[in-house]
Amino acid sequence: MPNILGTFEGISEGRHLVLNGHTDVFPVSEDPVKEGWTTDPWGGEIIDGKIYGRGSSDMKCGTSASIWTYIFLNRLRAKIKGKLTLTCVSDEETFGPWGDRWLIDNEPEVLGDCCLNGEPSSPFTIRYGEKGLLWLTFTVKTPGAHGAYTHVSPSATRIAAKLINELGNLENLPLNIPQDLLLAQKEAEADFDKGMGSGASKIISKVTLNIGTIKGGLKTNMIPGECTFEADIRLPVGIESEVIMDQIDKILKKYPEVTMDQNKYNSPSHCDPNGEMLGIIQDNVKLLRGYRPAKVVSMGGTDARLWRYKGIPAYVYGPFPTGMGSVDENVPIDDYLHFVKTHALSAYDYLNKN
Ligand SMILES: [Zn+2]
Repeated sequence: MPNILGTFEGISEGRHLVLNGHTDVFPVSEDPVKEGWTTDPWGGEIIDGKIYGRGSSDMKCGTSASIWTYIFLNRLRAKIKGKLTLTCVSDEETFGPWGDRWLIDNEPEVLGDCCLNGEPSSPFTIRYGEKGLLWLTFTVKTPGAHGAYTHVSPSATRIAAKLINELGNLENLPLNIPQDLLLAQKEAEADFDKGMGSGASKIISKVTLNIGTIKGGLKTNMIPGECTFEADIRLPVGIESEVIMDQIDKILKKYPEVTMDQNKYNSPSHCDPNGEMLGIIQDNVKLLRGYRPAKVVSMGGTDARLWRYKGIPAYVYGPFPTGMGSVDENVPIDDYLHFVKTHALSAYDYLNKN
């Protein structure tokens, strides 16, 4: 799992910009056709002006935009102030420890003063923050019994069903999100739905609950003595897990048969929705395509959060997530070149503006 780094300094003192992308991709099953692929996932086929293949949108487009940016600016280094660093890492898709997490712990100079990342966002939006995630496993245990003897034991699966219903109320929990973040999200509603699908703006500032797996019971005529389910809870920017955990603890007091384990927690992250680099990217997109992309919060996770956790602004501007983690992943070549240009121009402006 190599991490590939490059860094160079311009002609004078200045700011340090870091370009970040990952090189690993989601897997493809052994039978891609059965999975639903109509193109070779490893073929890089070009059809109707689009490049197809696993990793094309997540995130070969963005990472190669970073690489081109680094190459172009290196050619212009006699005109560049400050310092530019390129970081291409493995081990991102599984939140793995050997990519950016390792890098930031062991080579902290890669933090720089600002980070630019080309993960999928859509050409219409720039991401200044992302939701957090909290993964929990719930286990329900009861004595269990013959299916007709419901007086002998409560059912673990029925308790799980009741608890899942009650956890659903977390989605309506009133939250104390800072006004500037709410305002930025409100402004971006229409563009956010355009990029992420209708309805996305309704859940971005809310807690969401997904019950990813559920297992329980052995046979139709047995009362299950055990049921396990996994919850994937997403937290909006501006709140911490304690708000949710307090609520869950309150609920669990009513369920003595249930134990809970926390498997993962990535807190939500954000930087300034009115930050300088965000404005630079907007200006360049306006120049190239005639519109200003909206500033939004991302629903999924990226390594940009690791910079934000350390107080460094990190902005994400990349392609539509077409087929990401699914089939027929692709990026229009026009869009790809747009991201190369936007990243290169924005990096140049950020380093030379001061
Ligand atoms: Zn990615």
